[in-house]
Amino acid sequence: MLTDALRKFDSEIADAIQKEVERQEYKLELIASENFVSTNVLSAMGSQLTNKYAEGYPGKRYYGGCEFVDVAEDLARERAKKLFGCDHVNVQPHSGTQANMGVYFAVLKPGDTIMGMNLSHGGHLTHGSPVSISGTYFKVVSYGVNPATELLDYDELGRLAREHRPKLIVCGASAYSRDIDFKKFRETADEVGAMVMADIAHPAGLVATGLHTSPVPYCEFVTTTTHKTLRGPRGGMIMCREQFAKQIDKAIFPGTQGGPLMHVIAAKAVAFKEDLEPAYKDYCRQIVANSRALAATLAKRGFRIVNGGTDTHLFLVDLTDKGITGKDAEEALGRAGITVNKNTIPRETRSPFVTSGIRVGTPALTTRGMKESQMHSIGGWMADVLSNLADTTMQEKVKRDVRTLCEGFPIYRNS
Ligand SMILES: *Cc1c(COP(=O)(O)O)cnc(C)c1O
Repeated sequence: MLTDALRKFDSEIADAIQKEVERQEYKLELIASENFVSTNVLSAMGSQLTNKYAEGYPGKRYYGGCEFVDVAEDLARERAKKLFGCDHVNVQPHSGTQANMGVYFAVLKPGDTIMGMNLSHGGHLTHGSPVSISGTYFKVVSYGVNPATELLDYDELGRLAREHRPKLIVCGASAYSRDIDFKKFRETADEVGAMVMADIAHPAGLVATGLHTSPVPYCEFVTTTTHKTLRGPRGGMIMCREQFAKQIDKAIFPGTQGGPLMHVIAAKAVAFKEDLEPAYKDYCRQIVANSRALAATLAKRGFRIVNGGTDTHLFLVDLTDKGITGKDAEEALGRAGITVNKNTIPRETRSPFVTSGIRVGTPALTTRGMKESQMHSIGGWMADVLSNLADTTMQEKVKRDVRTLCEGFPIYRNS
């Protein structure tokens, strides 16, 4: 956290941090992959554990002096196992991407075939995009959503799997608003002798609290980030069945990473302790209630919600019939103090830099304590701004309303 000593020593960096803290406090964060960690998580992350080299795993390190960081990593592992009910967990991946690379390195060879969800239908870069290592080292077959229902097309998935016989089927998404039927993925994989990796980077918190189907009983591997709905430090993690434990651990270290970030692992342990508390389930329920309320408000004002709604923390708005692009919408909302990201939608016709939609998510605002009534106000302001992108007076007015609302829901100012 920003201290007076840092302010004095490096005013340029202190200034950037200060401004970012103010941006977080006084603007409305609707980016679905973001959240606000507790000061306890921040405190562990900013600790002296960053000084320690600890290549290896608890009890089997390549360096001396690891007795205390071992305690931290063991706590993170035990709590993660309790949270998700998995056999084995590796808490060392530096990010969600590193977690996915770890699984690929553990079980695939270059040239193997994998299946992943189409990026423009909600999938992630690491699920086989040509610009990712996953799309260059492996043969990729993409499945997606049904164009009419905009829901995952399990028939197409089965057809493609039988035709291409992948070694690994990847499921999970970054922009899909409905529950995922992991059992269907298992059945398809069994038909063709494939393994399944579920990437729950986005809905992990909902999975941990039983509000979203858990992939753990159905998949060999489950990867996640720890900083999205789980509300922990920026990082990743891999869960797997016991039979793959050694392979996965070796694929992370020494396979694809060096020394683990022990301060971040300690912060993961603190976040998991929070996630195991009953209050966290209430929080996750409120995330979904807020997401539904916000989607309903926008729908009432005439905006088309992709696949008609949401069961999760996020949804997509299709702006096609409004004649505006995702890029223009993101910029106009940004001027009004509302932060979203432009996003491709099913049947997208524009480039990923322009897009026809926006992605809207409620984990961060829910952490601030906002509920349905605030979502109705925010949805109304978004509609006001999006209904006339050139109306800068409206943007200024909304920006003032946003600031006033934010002042009533402090993030770090009281701590
Ligand atoms: C966010 C995300 C990731 C990547 O996480 P990073 O920590 O940014 O590398 C991986 N998979 C999915 C589905 C995601 O949404």
